[in-house]
Amino acid sequence: MSYVLRRSADNARMAAIGLGLRILGLPAVRRRALESLDHCGMILMFHHVGPPRPDRLPVNQGLEVTPETLDRVLCSLKAQDYDIVPMDEVAERLAHGTPGKKRFAALTFDDGGRDNLLHAAPVLVRHGAPFTIYVTTGFTSGLVTPWWHVIERATLAATSLSIETDAGTWILDTSNKRKKGQSAETLRHILWHSSEESREQKTIALARQAGLDLRALTHELCMDWTELREIAGLPGCTIGAHTRSHPKLAHLDEAAARREISEGRDILRDRLGLKIEHFSYPYGGAGTCDEREFAMTRAEGFATAVTTRKNLLNPTDGNGLTNLPRVPINGHFQQPAMIDALICGLPMILTQMNIHRKHLPRKVEPISVPGS
Ligand SMILES: [Zn+2]
Repeated sequence: MSYVLRRSADNARMAAIGLGLRILGLPAVRRRALESLDHCGMILMFHHVGPPRPDRLPVNQGLEVTPETLDRVLCSLKAQDYDIVPMDEVAERLAHGTPGKKRFAALTFDDGGRDNLLHAAPVLVRHGAPFTIYVTTGFTSGLVTPWWHVIERATLAATSLSIETDAGTWILDTSNKRKKGQSAETLRHILWHSSEESREQKTIALARQAGLDLRALTHELCMDWTELREIAGLPGCTIGAHTRSHPKLAHLDEAAARREISEGRDILRDRLGLKIEHFSYPYGGAGTCDEREFAMTRAEGFATAVTTRKNLLNPTDGNGLTNLPRVPINGHFQQPAMIDALICGLPMILTQMNIHRKHLPRKVEPISVPGS
């Protein structure tokens, strides 16, 4: 399918998902759903939290929500009578059950974005909500830059970009907002399907063409060690591991994958003086982490490890604590009724039952995003 056709299909799918979420968010529908659902809780997945940016491109929009949306999530969790718990307690409750059978929710943030400290932490602390930040140590040290952000920044800064592919050199028109949006999606597709080494080379080449200072961009986007210590010291904060360089672990040989998992944890432990017991798989979907990686994090002694597989928690998940699903809070779907629908859990149930196929085109789950 061409990129243009794929974009049209994505747009139509997201419009349908938005409509479905709005309907599911109606109080009467939600009440019936809550009465009939049989899950014990959910782990919510966030990346970035910040004020709306009018100049931004859609390519990373799903990864960022506003502080108001985070506030709505917390209010909705409280209104729907969830216990908001740290990841330590998720493991405990899945293993031994929940007192009074009350549902629980954990809030998790991947990558260690600076906005987590600036915009998410004040909301979380105000609500008294525990939360977990999964940190890629290469981002914190300024040694690795999240490539999906380089795509967006390079596309915004340049009027054209070239990239080497297996099919030769591609020249991409980035001369206006519409072209920038299209080219960014094309670049995301190319880099997503590149090898780890090739992706890094392509990222550096794009930054060079657009005049980006990767080290400065990394510091703008990600917490440094001083900032990470600050957020780690806030009430309710747990720091988890998210590897050293954010690779697709399943694409590495066994020794390299194990090093990414263990050394990312060890660096955090040594730099922060904390015990690091929870892990998040970079990207987290099928093909980027699978049974081999689930066994590795178990062998490394992590209490839990989360994926980006979309689902609610069930008591049987206690048997697979290093393969836990999450519910993404997606920047494309921030209307209050949509948030209420997600928190009640019905969209995830429909996804699992495939009921949505009668009502929505293709998948209910939001489009895949690279920066998980
Ligand atoms: Zn990530």
